[in-house]
Amino acid sequence: MDTAHLAATRRLYYDDTYLVAFEATVVGLGTVGGRPAIALDRSAFYPEGGGQPADRGTLNGLPVVDVQAQGPIVWHILERHGDAAALAPGTAVHGVIDWARRLNHMQQHCGQHLLTAAFIATGGPATRSFHLSDTSVTIDLDSAALTSAQIHAAETLANQVIWEDRPISARFVSAEELGQITLRKAPAVDGPVRVVSIAEFDHSACGGTHPRSTGSVGLIAVLRSARQRGGTRVEFACGGRVLRELRRISAAAGNAAAMLSVGIDELPTAVERALEAQRSLAKELAELTEAMDQGEAQRCYDAGEPAGAARIVCARLDSVGLERLRRLAQAIAAQPGGVAILGLGGERAQIVVACAPESGREAQTIVAAGLTVLEGRGGGSATLAQGGGPRGDRLDAALAAMAMVARQDPGSPALTK
Ligand SMILES: [Zn+2]
Repeated sequence: MDTAHLAATRRLYYDDTYLVAFEATVVGLGTVGGRPAIALDRSAFYPEGGGQPADRGTLNGLPVVDVQAQGPIVWHILERHGDAAALAPGTAVHGVIDWARRLNHMQQHCGQHLLTAAFIATGGPATRSFHLSDTSVTIDLDSAALTSAQIHAAETLANQVIWEDRPISARFVSAEELGQITLRKAPAVDGPVRVVSIAEFDHSACGGTHPRSTGSVGLIAVLRSARQRGGTRVEFACGGRVLRELRRISAAAGNAAAMLSVGIDELPTAVERALEAQRSLAKELAELTEAMDQGEAQRCYDAGEPAGAARIVCARLDSVGLERLRRLAQAIAAQPGGVAILGLGGERAQIVVACAPESGREAQTIVAAGLTVLEGRGGGSATLAQGGGPRGDRLDAALAAMAMVARQDPGSPALTK
């Protein structure tokens, strides 16, 4: 896009961050990322930059969906190409910015200045980077060993400065003047530097939007912190977002407390108690199931069919899971000469065969006969084999085929004696 002929946009938010509506003239028409974009002679819209998201709003009632700066030009991106046709160069426009969104961003952005400066003022680490989105605000601090005491100290000081409602000023300074100001961080831009000062607390080079005084930030609350690439990422919320977070957390904690019939303060103890009770029940259930399986295995074995050195148990147990089927089979095969041929019906049939070594039977040979009927796959060893197949309707036939193989006396050493 040829923007060489366009004059720099006068950025009204530099002088007045509380300006919500303004009058301007369209000076250019273009596209940004394939979307229609309008350049004005002056604008209160903040373009995305310095970690602060762009404003939203309207131009003559048409929605502005994004704002991007390209060098000195601020581009107001419109939703539809048709909208741009109504805003030809020379058109007078009435611009309105979405104030709720701007105030939210100012609170988070200014809160970041405060928290970053507060970490330094309390002897903590420097901020490496800052990220502000529609859902979260984070700073990455230059220390992997940040303690909760350090976080609390910085958070407390930042709130103290907020409640003292200290004035905030923003102005462009000359190189000479800049030499007399101690900036928190060296400016990243060439040319005139905009210095944002929080009275007797912090000076930093910044092109963003800030409230007139710290009181507008309202409150700053650190929500969580986690190690991140050799440093610590601290997530926090400011102003209206603290209220939003508090409501969210209160609702979640309140619901959980109501379910456990305790107060919110008793939640950790109540959850611990509930988990302990659950662990104890799970242990008891496992013990009971094992005892039941032993009894079931014994009953099956006793009713089994003697065949030489083997005692064959062939059963269909549709109500148990595969894991229990295997346990039962092994418990049966733990008895003298025990040969278990168990099946589990369903859309897909599962079969498990376990053989006591002295039975003279081989589990994988027996399972193979069943798998042929089920058109399935599987395998295993002489003592334990299993498999499954898609022909669930043939499970009974498969069990019968396996029982037939098991009945054949292989002439095991136990029998030929
Ligand atoms: Zn700033």
